[in-house]
Amino acid sequence: MKIFKFGGASVKDAESVKNVANIIKQEGAKNTLVVISAMGKMTNAFEDVINSYYNKEQDLPQKLNFIEEYHKDIMNSLFEKEDKIHQDIDILFGELGWFLARNTSQRFNYVYDQIICFGELLSTKIVSAYLEKLGQENVWFDVRNYIKTDSNYRDAKVDWQLTEDIITAKVDANKINITQGFIAANDTENTTTLGREGSDYTAGIFAYCLNAESVTIWKDVKGVLNADPRVFDDTTLLQQISYEEAIEMAFYGASVIHPKTIQPLQKKEIPLLVRSFINPKETGTKIARGSTLEPYIPCFIVKKNQILISISALDFSFMVENNMSYIFQKLHDYQLKVNMMQNSAISFSVCIDNKFNKFDAFYNELQNQFKIDVQQGVDLYTIRHFDDKANAIIEQKGTSLLTQINKETSQIVVKPF
Ligand code: ASP
Ligand code: MG
Repeated sequence: MKIFKFGGASVKDAESVKNVANIIKQEGAKNTLVVISAMGKMTNAFEDVINSYYNKEQDLPQKLNFIEEYHKDIMNSLFEKEDKIHQDIDILFGELGWFLARNTSQRFNYVYDQIICFGELLSTKIVSAYLEKLGQENVWFDVRNYIKTDSNYRDAKVDWQLTEDIITAKVDANKINITQGFIAANDTENTTTLGREGSDYTAGIFAYCLNAESVTIWKDVKGVLNADPRVFDDTTLLQQISYEEAIEMAFYGASVIHPKTIQPLQKKEIPLLVRSFINPKETGTKIARGSTLEPYIPCFIVKKNQILISISALDFSFMVENNMSYIFQKLHDYQLKVNMMQNSAISFSVCIDNKFNKFDAFYNELQNQFKIDVQQGVDLYTIRHFDDKANAIIEQKGTSLLTQINKETSQIVVKPF
């Protein structure tokens, strides 16, 4: 069985949906399971809805309307007025409205997952119905009945045993299956999610459970490049990457592949192909067992908009184990993800992501006990297989605040000019 994953950019408008349907027909007309994300930037649009709803803002109806119009525009180009898909989509919007009206929970992460999932439910319904319209039989299913997780909303952990049992029992490997990425459910049937950009991981979960022959992630780029073309002028396509190298790259924040995706594939040596949905004839990148990197060149990974903090004791005593363990506990409590750290005798520096907006609370709690220097809005560059020339490219991007060099990896925190 083959697993395909199509991200938001591949289904951002009617033309794109047609293209995806063509690829599925040509490359995966049977024995295929297709994982699809929300259309275009709809997950962001749903996040806007969630924020308005949660904060009881006036503009909620406009934000909902934007999402509804976006999908209906696409549907009007793909379907006839009398096609049943219109009712299916109305039902989904009805369910969303019902949740918004009836929910009383104040737990943000829970509310987030119950709302954000509609992006994927809508997109997969539309693609499935369009394939049907082209005469391509397929099975649509709600992934929440297949992938089971704990209740850690927005970053749920998969229950592998249960998930594998359900998937092997329920998926019909001879068909074209269409389902949602990113979303799942806990044991009380509430929706959970696997973390932003989690659809790749969904594809990995299915591949693992079904012992798939390969996973193909269809993207708007040629494959995995050695740097993000939005940040770097010169980029090169990587033809082959080992699992280990891909895990390293994902760990440092390479956004091409969701960090958790590789491990399940590596365990079963299932190759991961990254191919272009714009040029489906090209081979793209293969992540598999074997040589580290082909071609062997420096790879650049950037994490923008980080916070660099430098923590020292108020009395300038050494930063020792008990301070550190306290600080780490607080970083963990406030969900601040550490992307780089460096220790000296009297100060401890960390570069962090403020994804859950809890930095201020963290800062307030620590400032009584420590002196904390804060640099907001810095960028963290990581170079795998660096050389002097590669480091110099980063040093041109701004003022270097902190550098760390290991055997294969250099990291530089830069305040952009
Ligand atoms: N739609 C979700 C997101 O944008 C999941 C994904 O695209 O992988 O985060
Ligand atoms: Mg998406």
